[in-house]
Amino acid sequence: MEHKESKIRWGMVVDLDKCTGCGACMVACEAENNIAPTTDSSNKLRTLSWMLVYELTNGKAYPDHDVAYLPRPCMQCGKPSCMTVCPVTAIDKNEEGGIVSQIYPRCIGCRYCMAACPYHARYFNWYDPIWPEGMEKTLTPNVSVRPRGVAEKCTFCHHKYAEAKELARAEGRDPLHLEENDYIPACVAACPSGAMHFGDLNNPEHTVYKMAHEKYAFRLLERLGTDPQVYYYSKREWVRRQGDNYLKTEKTKGA
Ligand code: SF4
Ligand code: SF4
Repeated sequence: MEHKESKIRWGMVVDLDKCTGCGACMVACEAENNIAPTTDSSNKLRTLSWMLVYELTNGKAYPDHDVAYLPRPCMQCGKPSCMTVCPVTAIDKNEEGGIVSQIYPRCIGCRYCMAACPYHARYFNWYDPIWPEGMEKTLTPNVSVRPRGVAEKCTFCHHKYAEAKELARAEGRDPLHLEENDYIPACVAACPSGAMHFGDLNNPEHTVYKMAHEKYAFRLLERLGTDPQVYYYSKREWVRRQGDNYLKTEKTKGA
């Protein structure tokens, strides 16, 4: 399935040399996107983790041991394999910004998209959402609450994009030329170590454009050709090497 190239290409760059693995991005995402607490959070096969922080190690013993943390939202692929397999067109690649969105009322819960996503970024909603008494007052008004039986994933906080455009219109500014900080997803705003950056990957003025063009920038499973809109950055070669299934003899980008 072809999609038109958009002028804006919303993207994220995560500096893995700054991420401390605190998990603030995961908590912020759940709170912002109305993800209800589950009865058993230890069951990782049934929890919803739109943002998940992985721990990586270089596999060496002390004193050479090293760790890194890799936050994984949806990669918002330029060529999303989830979209092509959906039998009911419940997945859409937005022509304005390139965000891959999920149309919940159409989803029939077949989970083909989950099998097709090479990043394990999609989740099946096993339970109707139930909030502890009083907590329903904290729901984000512009984010729909999903019923059980549908697939879900990170949306790049698409509602915040819509809000930023509305504010720009109200202030007489051009909604298609937002300032760098007008639209910031919840996880990026919550990161206490400044590891996460967000903006237009096509705009040379934006930090993400500059970082994505650095020699230490990389994307996950880049050689699959999915063209993710999420980039990572690390000066450590062993960290970049974990981004794809490199052979021992192959060099990573930036080596
Ligand atoms: S961009 Fe929004 S939806 Fe995606 S992981 Fe971050 S907070 Fe969650
Ligand atoms: S909030 Fe920032 S530092 Fe914490 S885990 Fe997420 S990306 Fe890493």
